[in-house]
Amino acid sequence: IWLEAQANLKHVLTEQTYTTWIEPLKFLGATADTVVLEVPSSFFQKWVTDKYLAMIKEVLSAITSKTYHIEFHVAEAKPELPEPRTEKEPKAKGKEKDKEKEGEKEKEKEKDKKPELVPNLNPKYTFESFVSGPSNQFAYAASQAVANKPASNYNPLFIYGGVGLGKTHLVNAIGNQILAKNPKAKICYYSSEKFMNEMINSLRYKKMDEFRNKFRKMDLLLIDDIQFMAGKEATQEEFFHTFNALYESHKQIVVTSDKFPKDIPGLEERLRSRFEWGLIADIQPPGVETKVAILKKKSDMHAVNLPDDVALFLAEGATSNIRELEGMLIRLEAFASLTGKEITLSMAREVMKDIIVEKTRDISVEMIQKMVADHFRIKLSELKSDKRIKTLVVPRQIAIYICRELTKASYPEIGEKFGGKDHSTIIHSVKKIEKQLAADADLKATVEDIKKRLFT
Ligand code: ADP
Ligand code: MG
Repeated sequence: IWLEAQANLKHVLTEQTYTTWIEPLKFLGATADTVVLEVPSSFFQKWVTDKYLAMIKEVLSAITSKTYHIEFHVAEAKPELPEPRTEKEPKAKGKEKDKEKEGEKEKEKEKDKKPELVPNLNPKYTFESFVSGPSNQFAYAASQAVANKPASNYNPLFIYGGVGLGKTHLVNAIGNQILAKNPKAKICYYSSEKFMNEMINSLRYKKMDEFRNKFRKMDLLLIDDIQFMAGKEATQEEFFHTFNALYESHKQIVVTSDKFPKDIPGLEERLRSRFEWGLIADIQPPGVETKVAILKKKSDMHAVNLPDDVALFLAEGATSNIRELEGMLIRLEAFASLTGKEITLSMAREVMKDIIVEKTRDISVEMIQKMVADHFRIKLSELKSDKRIKTLVVPRQIAIYICRELTKASYPEIGEKFGGKDHSTIIHSVKKIEKQLAADADLKATVEDIKKRLFT
């Protein structure tokens, strides 16, 4: 079952997510109700538990129609590097023994260099994959300006905004764009925590010079979430010197934070004032339109059809945190893919029922009737009548179908409100539209359009 589950997960997750988090899980066995997986580390376990456990369980229960517990075992720490190497290159061993010896020193050097030279940017975070809207336009434009002309006008660039609003995405986009233009550019992206941890390690192993030199060689330094340096005096001190060295040699620095510099408690005055030398750009929580645009973009990127009414439903139900919004989309996509059904509003309602506490925008049968009648430019009385002309029958069936989908009215209740039709007529209409929707794109667009307008 694990193989099958993996195959399913591969469909619904991005390739990167899959290879990073799912592929390394090793199947150790299963009992009647528990699947045991090996994880490489406890950090890994935590991450997978937080992000993907629900999905793994869903996949398993979709395959087996049973609910499984997942048990994780952390693999025992073993010296990993040397062994896989010899395994991977068994043939090369004999022939290249001599070369290898010669090359060894070279390789050592390379190993030391590599982590510095290969920028640790996330390739998915680009300007192209970023949706700009009123809430983030300023930060977006500033980031592009910096990427196009580093270290000229806006140095440092300080981007601030709440959690999940796209700061990390934007700074990576700056790096990726500069790198695309100049593959040799020395760029490093560091969270302020990583900066601190590395500094502490360097202190411990007396490698401070190395640490300093590394940063001072950079063309572009991206420091994410500077607020974590608050109260860490030694780290701030070190960063202050790094900052000055780079600034003086006209290298670009970009810093992000969840707050405006003045509002970060425990940030030293001299750093604060440095941040104010450049440009400070904010990201505000996105409005519904921007959220819809982001959902549309992400679903396009995943090659999934996300109807407008569903996008609106998610956008309205989500908080402003775009990471959460993405999470909803992934969940919905996973559900659709596992059940082999197209994404619809009613599916979204069902899948999100614990997540989105619907602002009950009660849609009534009357509202639907009016909306449909307006759409087709017919009279309400005609819509409810028994006249069997095509120009009336289709709108009538559509209206009945939407009533069934969006209201809690029963078949007889709907019949009652459509001029006293019996419930088998109503069922027939619903079935008819359901069937046609699958084949008729125009009809589908019409229905979606009407539903969308009902929600706005
Ligand atoms: P922050 O660093 O501000 O907490 P992130 O940059 O990590 O937020 O963004 C969270 C997620 O939302 C990321 O996956 C990112 O790609 C996505 N995201 C945020 N803003 C946008 C946007 N405007 N367009 C597309 N994706 C976005
Ligand atoms: Mg971030």
